[in-house]
Amino acid sequence: LQEIVKQVIDLPAITKDGKSIELLLNAGLGAEFDDSMKNGAIGIGLYRTEIPFMERSCFPSELEQITLYKKVLNSFPRQPVVMRTLDVGGDKALPYFPISEDNPFLGWRGIRITLDHPEIFLVQVRAMLRANIGLGNLEIMLPMVSGTTEVDDAVRLINQAYFEVSNESDVAVAKPKVGIMLEVPSVIFQLSELAKKVDFFSVGSNDLTQYLLAVDRNNSRVAPLFDSYHPAVLRALNKIAEQAQVELIELSLCGELASEPGGALLLLAMGYDKLSMNAHNIPRVKWVLRHLDYKQAQLILSHCLMLSTAKQVHNYLNEQLELLG
Ligand code: PEP
Ligand code: MG
Repeated sequence: LQEIVKQVIDLPAITKDGKSIELLLNAGLGAEFDDSMKNGAIGIGLYRTEIPFMERSCFPSELEQITLYKKVLNSFPRQPVVMRTLDVGGDKALPYFPISEDNPFLGWRGIRITLDHPEIFLVQVRAMLRANIGLGNLEIMLPMVSGTTEVDDAVRLINQAYFEVSNESDVAVAKPKVGIMLEVPSVIFQLSELAKKVDFFSVGSNDLTQYLLAVDRNNSRVAPLFDSYHPAVLRALNKIAEQAQVELIELSLCGELASEPGGALLLLAMGYDKLSMNAHNIPRVKWVLRHLDYKQAQLILSHCLMLSTAKQVHNYLNEQLELLG
């Protein structure tokens, strides 16, 4: 693996026949501050803000958040850094904000919590905007969106935070791009309306797989059923890509699928613009993409979309990847 890292770390992610795709970092643990950890990423595609919140004993103040976010934005100056607003609930608990529910993954999660607690959301967005002053590389992403009302409400709050911060600041405050995660299946049928309200989409394939297949992503008993290569998931991902191209909206994917050679191949072929993943997977994915032919990847995709089980998809993809070496 060390060899692969050395070979490709400074090279672009581009296929043999010239189709390029951007590889970004999933971050949140703090490792992104260290240059040696970037592994050739050209920005941050997902900064999970809940991770620093989870490591504390109370909600961080606006000033504490500013300090933290400045560090993150500074780790990739002049490159996009996508910060996701607080995504707690489900399996991610804050010790100082207990939630007890029978079905946490179908309950109070992500944007649902922060819209019910605008004071938490406003402090976080204000901190992001203030951290971005003088840098300008911030993008804001909303988790667990299931419909347009949530987007309207969140954008209204982001605008409020923007006017507050602008009024308090002597210098111009940049207006960040705002995007949403596509991870609740209902959004697949509202892409056209949603595309008019935001600047980018990013698929959360972990949750999208969980909700599309009704398989708890953390339950070992049903783990064999949790498979992002299930034909239904692949067809959903492909439909999203087709629709994003019609709407001319930027599309990325930041779930585990992006970090696997077979997944990256299929997503490239579908037309995803960006893939975001853990740092250690970037060199391997880049190596695979650089040894691929885009036209060939499209043929492989067409074949996968016609298969009827996840097992068939895995077998076929493994065969094709072996041919690559
Ligand atoms: C996802 O759901 O795919 C995702 C990237 O977000 P998380 O894993 O943090 O829920
Ligand atoms: Mg998710």
